[in-house]
Amino acid sequence: MNTQRVAELIRELLVEIGEDPDREGLLKTPERVAAAYRFLTSGYHADLKAIINGAVFESHANNMIIVRNIEIYSMCEHHMLPFFGQCHIGYIANGKVLGVSKLARIANGFARRLQIQENLTHEIARAISDAVGAEGVGVVMECRHLCMMMRGVEKQNSVMTTSSVLGSFHDDAATRAEFNNLILRDAKC
Ligand code: ZN
Repeated sequence: MNTQRVAELIRELLVEIGEDPDREGLLKTPERVAAAYRFLTSGYHADLKAIINGAVFESHANNMIIVRNIEIYSMCEHHMLPFFGQCHIGYIANGKVLGVSKLARIANGFARRLQIQENLTHEIARAISDAVGAEGVGVVMECRHLCMMMRGVEKQNSVMTTSSVLGSFHDDAATRAEFNNLILRDAKC
């Protein structure tokens, strides 16, 4: 990303919305916004292979592995406004497991781009499945969208839920039910 060019564009945007980019409070805003965008869109340059490398471990476990309540912050591709919430991930290993922090890093790699929640959910599931050759993967995401809360229909309390199920999570109703039960449980710690 060309930070200087993005800062110039933000300065032009400030003029177009009726602001004075030379007033004191806005003097450094174009540079700050450019820096924020560099971070918020860093997923375009995330090397998922590098993230995953070294964190795939042999395991004989064939039970379900669940990580709940991974915080998600992304931006909708329709309005470039944030959406945020929780992501729950489950998979059944097939000889290989992922280091637990890597699940969150994989989720961030896809969240830090312009997204729609449906695709984000699916991309995370696909990446985990590909990384460990899991027997099945399930991802459920619950997010609030500022483009709905601040503008348009102004539905401040609506939460959008999306899910993506692959392999045995897709084919086997009992596996899917176990996943749903486990992610719905109240945290005990
Ligand atoms: Zn939107």
